[in-house]
Amino acid sequence: MSINWFPGHMAKARREVEENLKKVDVVIEILDARIPHSSHNPMLDEITQHKPRVVVLNKVDMADRKETDAWMARFKSEGKYPVALDGRNNHIIKKIEPLAVRATAEIFERMEKKGIGRRAIRAMIIGIPNVGKSTVINNIAKKKIAKTGNTPGVTKQQQWIKAGEQMELLDTPGILWPKFEDEITGRKLSLTGAIKDAVVPLDEVAIYGIEFLLAHDPERFNQFYNINVSPSDEIVDVFDAIGKSRGLKAGGNEINYEAVTNRIIYDIRNGKIGGYTFDKADA
Ligand code: GDP
Repeated sequence: MSINWFPGHMAKARREVEENLKKVDVVIEILDARIPHSSHNPMLDEITQHKPRVVVLNKVDMADRKETDAWMARFKSEGKYPVALDGRNNHIIKKIEPLAVRATAEIFERMEKKGIGRRAIRAMIIGIPNVGKSTVINNIAKKKIAKTGNTPGVTKQQQWIKAGEQMELLDTPGILWPKFEDEITGRKLSLTGAIKDAVVPLDEVAIYGIEFLLAHDPERFNQFYNINVSPSDEIVDVFDAIGKSRGLKAGGNEINYEAVTNRIIYDIRNGKIGGYTFDKADA
């Protein structure tokens, strides 16, 4: 679920995240593996400053594996601790916890030198809406605690939940807003379900998706829709071909373009056509 972000929401969300940051040793940032750049709000870098960062490339099941590997390498080179996973799978804590341990090793060494006794690593999950924050928290907690929906500013009593052997996790995630640098970012956010359908015109989102998939792997695209189009075809011809193949008519023989648009977006959002990564790691 996504919300409309107004300046008041943003200020409140930022304040909440800043407050919670004071309580933790490490930040676990959840990104959508299909858009690791576009699902990151750069504000986080500003407010976390030098806090160690575990980066979860979530929804890896719907991303391009090669690109995910390239993103992993990039995050490592930036001094972050990345992991790629499907937040719905069991035992994700076994992947996340060792990274949090490594990320905070120096902090705890320093504490030990000062004679401060060992305590659990404290962590919080942060990310923009719909990247899978609640899924990850509920999965680690083994019960439903993270509230669904994303309403910043609705405070609730926070609790620490046990996460693995050495870690404690705040049970409410930090929510940041999706940041649009440009139209293309908006389309990518919409295509992956991070922002509401009303924010970016859906025909532009569908056209962007078609162009990306056709440029990337025309054969897979054609096979999926049982059509025969090429990247150089007019976009309306691609819509017509899909409409015909899928029987999306508006009465008579007219193609129902709205239905085609919705179908394409649905298929891409849900990974039906295969794994794609829309942000390039080497860009
Ligand atoms: P939040 O807004 O960041 O808390 O996101 P949610 O946890 O509510 O997840 C948003 C949607 O993504 C839900 O429909 C989840 O079931 C789905 N989801 C979460 N993680 C994954 C994943 O790794 N793979 C897939 N395919 N879907 C996921």
